[in-house]
Amino acid sequence: MIYLDNSSTTQVKAEVAEKTVNAMTKDFGNPSSLHRLGLNAEKIVKESRAIIAKAVNADPSEIYFTSCGTESDNTVIKSVVESGKYRGKKIITTEVEHPAVLKPCEWAEAKGYTVIRIPVDKNCMIDLGALEDALDADTLLVSVMAVNNEVGSVMPLEKVRELITKKAPQALFHTDAVQAFEKTELDVKKLGLDFLSISGHKIHAPKGIGALYVKKGVHVPPFMLGGGQESQFRSGTESVPLIAGFGEAVRLAEADKAARIKHIRETRDYLKEGIIKTFGERAQINSPEDGVCSILNVSFTGCRGEVLLHMLEENGIYVSTGSACSSNSKKKGSHVLRAMGLSDDAIEGAIRFSLSEFNTKDEMDQVLKTLKEVVDVHSALLKLQHPGKFRA
Ligand code: PLP
Repeated sequence: MIYLDNSSTTQVKAEVAEKTVNAMTKDFGNPSSLHRLGLNAEKIVKESRAIIAKAVNADPSEIYFTSCGTESDNTVIKSVVESGKYRGKKIITTEVEHPAVLKPCEWAEAKGYTVIRIPVDKNCMIDLGALEDALDADTLLVSVMAVNNEVGSVMPLEKVRELITKKAPQALFHTDAVQAFEKTELDVKKLGLDFLSISGHKIHAPKGIGALYVKKGVHVPPFMLGGGQESQFRSGTESVPLIAGFGEAVRLAEADKAARIKHIRETRDYLKEGIIKTFGERAQINSPEDGVCSILNVSFTGCRGEVLLHMLEENGIYVSTGSACSSNSKKKGSHVLRAMGLSDDAIEGAIRFSLSEFNTKDEMDQVLKTLKEVVDVHSALLKLQHPGKFRA
């Protein structure tokens, strides 16, 4: 098996699984219990929180565990709107956010808030001029993702911060860093962030665990009410096993960050160069040159991405046509590729390869060989079925 769908989810590392299982079978206490088992569990949560805080240059008291990136994103938008503490009726985001941001923005819109979705260029880069024009004294929240999940563009968050400070200093600033965490540098202080969302299962931790950074001094109402865990902000007994795994995944990722990113980038670039060499004009690279290390989005002319996906799967190669989440959406085709101005054919023929540290150049050689076979077979079949559509 060659797994190239790491932006959808990743394989849990053995060390991470071990920590998770230990917290289920040995240190299984409730962190709120006053006895020793409870204290052991509390210690695990505290250690993981500290590791995650350090990785983004936050204070541990600014990190809240959630169930996933989606919950972190929802918490920010819904809590800011519900708060009533912060002034403004305008939320600014981008056209290419994940549904975990776009959907709560629609919810806010239904409540009477104005939502401005800033467009992107052909490299999936936010239009900073349009952002500057949109920012004003009525802006409540700005939510711009750190890395786009479909093509890997890295958004210029420092510049976004500068514009917010210049035009709307009262506005709160959130980034969905689910695809950026442990693949780019994220420093909440340098970026002047009020909120940052991350998720465990994108970095070799189990599914069902995320975290939210909330800057000290920013007060929004809790999203979950109950026993008052997570400093009253997110009630519900802490998932100690998943938190233990998340902490371990971050510890491992931090330990070899530069070398790991370099390896992923080199492997991805090897695949990219191979695709360009093999397919020439029959492949269009949709990911920007300076994108995140792990993502390569390519459109194969005259092909349907979904068919290619299944043909590759037959050969033990796992890829995606866009984001796993957007494949559930009712709207046809990727809203990200559409916002970048791609044609319907290019959108239909798009495949996302997303790599992790486990991938190798040998695997990429195998992928290139198989890709050539399946693209040739598929485009020949499509030409037979729709002779008018393709030039000889
Ligand atoms: N935000 C981005 C950019 C993502 O890519 C994803 C998942 O693909 C999410 C949010 C949702 O994260 P989770 O699956 O942890 O809810």
